[in-house]
Amino acid sequence: MRFDILTIFPKIFDSYFSETIIKRALKKKLIQINMHNIRDFTTDKHHTVDDRPYGGGPGMIFKLEPIFQALKKINRRKKSKIVLLTPTGKQFNQQMANRFAKLDQLILIAGRYEGIDARVDKLVSDKVSIGPYVLSGGELPAMVIIEAVTRLIPGVLGHKDSAKSDSFTLNKEYLEYPQYTRPAKFKKWSAPSVLLTGNHKLIEAWRKKKSNIARKNKTEK
Ligand code: SAM
Repeated sequence: MRFDILTIFPKIFDSYFSETIIKRALKKKLIQINMHNIRDFTTDKHHTVDDRPYGGGPGMIFKLEPIFQALKKINRRKKSKIVLLTPTGKQFNQQMANRFAKLDQLILIAGRYEGIDARVDKLVSDKVSIGPYVLSGGELPAMVIIEAVTRLIPGVLGHKDSAKSDSFTLNKEYLEYPQYTRPAKFKKWSAPSVLLTGNHKLIEAWRKKKSNIARKNKTEK
């Protein structure tokens, strides 16, 4: 899988991509990440990427031309999507992460300012939001999506079944059961005794019950 990120702040990604699963996935060549600094695709000497909004209003608007030029330079793979990160997009979830993980390439456009010239719609295949709140830029949303997608790529996680039992994986509402590890008793808090029985049927039933309770608690107002 190849990720291409269009941003005016490529350095933001450096430390995040040089740690943990992303680092390992890069090293194992399971993913590739290409950064594209949108400022490199401007033509004026100040490398301007923003301008005032037509019709007036606060703030500045990301210009279309440098994004168009940056996209033109990216080699496209067969199964690829161009995703605009925007709070007004379709909300990202585990199912979307699963669909993205089957692609060969995900091109992510991180906006800034008040948003991007709306004609960007002509250039993208999807518009995605990571949640109903406003951030200052699309860099964190790009990292969120890359992380969620990368851990679904075979060979990335230590155990091949790790992602299969994660919350939201079996279906949208599924939540994982509580997990415990050694020691069995810490201060006055004990791990549930059923988990220490070695009886897989009992453990499975307990986990199912706890998973249903977690879902009920989450959805209850
Ligand atoms: N004025 C815009 C609005 O009200 O919808 C918000 C623009 S925001 C300050 C600047 C950029 O951050 C956006 O163009 C987008 O790329 C990114 N962004 C902010 N919140 C986001 C979210 N929840 N999901 C995805 N991208 C987001």
